Amino acid sequence: MSFNKTALITGASRGLGAAVAKRLAEDGFNIAINCHSENSMKNGGDLVAEECRKFGVLAECFVADVSKYDQCESMIKSVKEKFGSIDCLVNNAGITKDGLLVRMSEEAFDAVTNVNYKGVFNMTKLVGLVMMRQKSGRIVNVSSVAGVNGNAGQFNYAASKAGIIGMTKTAAKELGIRGILVNAVAPGFIETDMTDALPDKLKDEVKRHISIKRFGKPEEVAGVVSFLCGQDASYISGQVIVIDGCLSM
Ligand code: NAP
Repeated sequence: MSFNKTALITGASRGLGAAVAKRLAEDGFNIAINCHSENSMKNGGDLVAEECRKFGVLAECFVADVSKYDQCESMIKSVKEKFGSIDCLVNNAGITKDGLLVRMSEEAFDAVTNVNYKGVFNMTKLVGLVMMRQKSGRIVNVSSVAGVNGNAGQFNYAASKAGIIGMTKTAAKELGIRGILVNAVAPGFIETDMTDALPDKLKDEVKRHISIKRFGKPEEVAGVVSFLCGQDASYISGQVIVIDGCLSM
């Protein structure tokens, strides 16, 4: 049952975001599901909301493109009006447009930067202001092992995910005094549409390097996010937790 706290998860119409939304609903949070568009709400977000409500909490979809500051601003206003507070923010929305650096178009670089990197700035700044007034809050940013180690063919993506780590550590230092804890998770290869799009040959090659010999499940990332949003993580801030089945060690 709800304990009257609200979690806002970006890009929660499917994949990791949907798994995080359901897990935090199970933990008792009211859930604000950010959907990129009306279509992603109809084709995924509405169902995620329905599944969250089965845990006895409130859940609703809010449409906004996280790369657009004004859309983030009006979404956050609507979430506040609907739920009263925003206690957890999970910056999950992300895209890939892979390619080797020398072949990468400016458009591919800008698109990934705008969603993955600027989106986290938009949301963290605006929700940070709400949490500062509340004098409490948790923010969990979804980075990637590509941001920790780099990854050939993902110059734009790795840069955005490394940038998220810098933003996590800086926000943790700036906002701690207001009772706000900021951490990141850095997943490896997790079974979602994003990795489904990879060629089978590449997937088999990657699995050879994962000591657990399989991709992770979205629920295995959601569990760590749940921990970081919960009482047991009350003295953890500025950290990056790698969730990759021992791929990158
Ligand atoms: P996914 O299945 O492709 O889902 C991405 C989600 O982000 C979708 O809900 C998508 O909405 C949403 N989104 C895209 N652009 C957006 C925008 N401008 N504004 C708001 N929402 C937007 O990807 P995923 O695998 O779940 O990835 C989730 C996060 O985990 C990403 O940040 C990704 O980089 C990170 N990650 C994933 C893996 C992995 O192996 N899967 C590993 C490391 C990190 P639509 O449905 O409208 O497209």
